[in-house]
Amino acid sequence: MKFATQLIHGDQPIDPEFGSLSHPLYLSSTFAQRSLDDFGRFDYARSGNPTREALEEAIAGLEGGTVGLAFASGMAAISSTFMIFAPGDHLVVCEDVYGGTFRVLSNVFSSWGLTATFVDATDLNAIAAAIRPETKAIYLETPSNPLIKITDLPGAVELAKQHGILTIVDNTFMTPYLQRPLELGCDIVLHSGTKFLNGHSDVICGFAVTKDPELGKRIRYIQNAFGAILGPQDCWLVLRGLKTLKVRMEESQASAIKIVAWLKEQPGVTRIYYPGLEEHPGFEVHRRQASGPGAVLSFEVSDLERTKRLLEGVKLSAFAVSLGGVESILSYPAKMSHAAMPPAEREARGIKDTLVRLSAGLEDPEDLIADMAPHLS
Ligand SMILES: *Cc1c(COP(=O)(O)O)cnc(C)c1O
Repeated sequence: MKFATQLIHGDQPIDPEFGSLSHPLYLSSTFAQRSLDDFGRFDYARSGNPTREALEEAIAGLEGGTVGLAFASGMAAISSTFMIFAPGDHLVVCEDVYGGTFRVLSNVFSSWGLTATFVDATDLNAIAAAIRPETKAIYLETPSNPLIKITDLPGAVELAKQHGILTIVDNTFMTPYLQRPLELGCDIVLHSGTKFLNGHSDVICGFAVTKDPELGKRIRYIQNAFGAILGPQDCWLVLRGLKTLKVRMEESQASAIKIVAWLKEQPGVTRIYYPGLEEHPGFEVHRRQASGPGAVLSFEVSDLERTKRLLEGVKLSAFAVSLGGVESILSYPAKMSHAAMPPAEREARGIKDTLVRLSAGLEDPEDLIADMAPHLS
């Protein structure tokens, strides 16, 4: 099955009872058992619910995995995955990792005994140099946020295999439509499903997917033990959102490409970060491992005054945290996604006070451009 068909039909047969095309929403916390010796497939809904299972199978199928797990947020998926490790273990993490991931590693897991070294993952030698005997995984985001840096996934996988450790990828920005890390040899794919997967700015959710059933079982154990599961109503909304993933990604990406071409000509824009630009240092690597540049880009504005005018002046793009919705969103990493990072760390990573991130939605790109034009031209 091709991706678009899989989005609509997946592995789910049409409801055998009534033929409902939309997956039934099971609002039940427990399931009655018929006999003492033979329990049904579901018992208590923290461990499993049919609506959640439909979504978990859908995301596993789209990523080319065997086990998919749905969590209450992207951070719940990420944190639950970190719990498969033990005190004393160590991770090598890309330095411009999502702010919340940086926070949970630096302030929560560090006191629990799981430590992390942050490196410039665009440089495989930097990753290699940070691997220690107690290192258990390489944790990556590509493209990264907000500087859209590209990490060579097959290169990182090769390093991980040499050391017998895992490769974990947060695939939120690309979605399985544009990039499938499991097919490149990575072990665990994570998502903030809040963004493109659900796509309608109305659910907070997260996913973990593995190809290896045993590894999937370890995360499933934590999902049930720690309990940060996604509720059935949210699962149903994400099942609906997923059906249009391909058309949304295609349209938003086409818009992003048009907007980047326009931004390049604007005197108020000094630098653009987008993996679709040939001058992007990761252009070739990205083209080998993903099928498109995606719908998220960042740019630097000439000065702080203009940055403020743009963010406060636009009427169509929301000035907000988040990305991946049908609405375009302009965000300000220094005070939003990376507010959890101390200013010195942020500056050292190149996240300036004049950096703006745009997630292209489904509006007509000409209207989005006209909306930004008075502030950048
Ligand atoms: C938003 C985001 C997260 C966190 O997900 P939540 O659903 O907000 O908990 C993690 N990684 C990336 C890349 C994100 O954009």
